[in-house]
Amino acid sequence: MRQLINVLKDIKLAIFDLDGVIYRGQSLVPNADKIIEELNHLSIKIVYNSNNSTITRQMYVDRLKKFNIVSKYTDFYTSASITSAKITKIKKNATIFVVGEVGLREELKSMGHNVITDPLNYKDVDFVIVGLDREFKYTNLAIAQNCILEGNAQFFATNADTTLPVARGLLPGAGVMVNALETCTNKKPIKIFGKPETFGIDLILKDFNLSAKEVCIFGDRLNTDILAGNRAGIKTVAVLTGVTSKEEIDNLLIDSNKSNKIDKNLIPDIVINSLDEIFR
Ligand SMILES: [Mg+2]
Repeated sequence: MRQLINVLKDIKLAIFDLDGVIYRGQSLVPNADKIIEELNHLSIKIVYNSNNSTITRQMYVDRLKKFNIVSKYTDFYTSASITSAKITKIKKNATIFVVGEVGLREELKSMGHNVITDPLNYKDVDFVIVGLDREFKYTNLAIAQNCILEGNAQFFATNADTTLPVARGLLPGAGVMVNALETCTNKKPIKIFGKPETFGIDLILKDFNLSAKEVCIFGDRLNTDILAGNRAGIKTVAVLTGVTSKEEIDNLLIDSNKSNKIDKNLIPDIVINSLDEIFR
């Protein structure tokens, strides 16, 4: 059995970002399935943390199954499930208008919330929650706007990613929908629950009763995965199988040595070309 490299030897739980780390669009990142299996054999707990709120945790289980990775829905911390958990702490059985997709709506419903599509009275709506919506509609934006301006709804967002990486390049991310609602209400979301905020990592540490030094995150994006990991105080590993290149990280290091304007939390503890490099 291979052993983990020295920097990771005290790790009890590994958090994996999904897109760019485990898979890229419809294809498995080479050997990601085998690495997960090896970590399982080393008794390292594995969870997945994605900003993509469009599908439910159970749909993620099915997606990984296609890549021969066995998981259960409680292994996933998506921006939709994190948002649902945090919103439930603020108010149980809330009335919510969603700009988003099935993943966000179903996660909220599963925690007992009433997710409405067309409010009779804007004042009845407790929260407007915005996530990635690939069928973003003007009429829904107008309803969300009115729930906030005419009613008293509080504005929250799953994440603010500017782009969504797909096989052929980039598409607009959830941040575009969040910005649209900001523009027409002149309000900012009260909270954004996905990475680079640490709500997800904090939940994971609490759920598994672990300290930050026992946990690491593997991610391909510096301004979400690595930033969140460093803010939470866990080990951060940038994997070059997704959106970030070695050159970008090298340039960031050069810039951060030259000026203190660069957020040091963007810099990962280690950089690896592929997950294979976590073993000796
Ligand atoms: Mg990613």
